[in-house]
Amino acid sequence: MLAQIARGIGSLLFPSVCPSCRRPVESGPRDPLCAACLRTLPRCRFPGGKLRHVDGTVSPFLYKGVCRDLVLALKYQGRTSLVPFLADRMAEEVVRHLGLPPAERILPVPLHPTRLRERTFNQAELLARALADRMEIPCEGDLLIRCRPTRPQAELTRDERSRNVRGAFDLRSGAGLKGSRLLLVDDILTTGATAEACAALLKKAGARSVWVVTAARD
Ligand SMILES: [Zn+2]
Repeated sequence: MLAQIARGIGSLLFPSVCPSCRRPVESGPRDPLCAACLRTLPRCRFPGGKLRHVDGTVSPFLYKGVCRDLVLALKYQGRTSLVPFLADRMAEEVVRHLGLPPAERILPVPLHPTRLRERTFNQAELLARALADRMEIPCEGDLLIRCRPTRPQAELTRDERSRNVRGAFDLRSGAGLKGSRLLLVDDILTTGATAEACAALLKKAGARSVWVVTAARD
């Protein structure tokens, strides 16, 4: 709460700056980047293929350059004003590849409660809720549970990442997933280890399909 108030005051005292090049941003509230950086955002045109449990992945951007600055500003500087912009682009890609409605339920990848207290918000949940609003599909933030704290995936090698998230998630009992089509939302997709760990649980509980939607992917 205090962090939210501090951020609110910060945005009043300091005019909006581009999260990538730090120049003042002239454009409207849905365009959080300066026009020059907006043009260099690395677009991701194709959906990612099937993993073992994940049916496919959709991301509007590649996780590099200006896009990396955007995601880091959201995650570590609390620039939650980036959420509507990212959710708009994510929604466009989902509709392009999966049609409408793309699923019956949207679920964010959860944070462990300790991490959530430190950060005060879960960026995956903010993106999932904004995406759910745009698609008029229910978002269920408490269906997946992070039952064990894990090290940040970015610090680990590929092999270590699957081990790191093994057994880290659980499902709320009575989730009622049999036959359902789901969209799992996260901020970035790298090796897909986190998405696979969640999708394995969801499929075991009877989900028919699990597509993963992220703002960016490697
Ligand atoms: Zn810029």
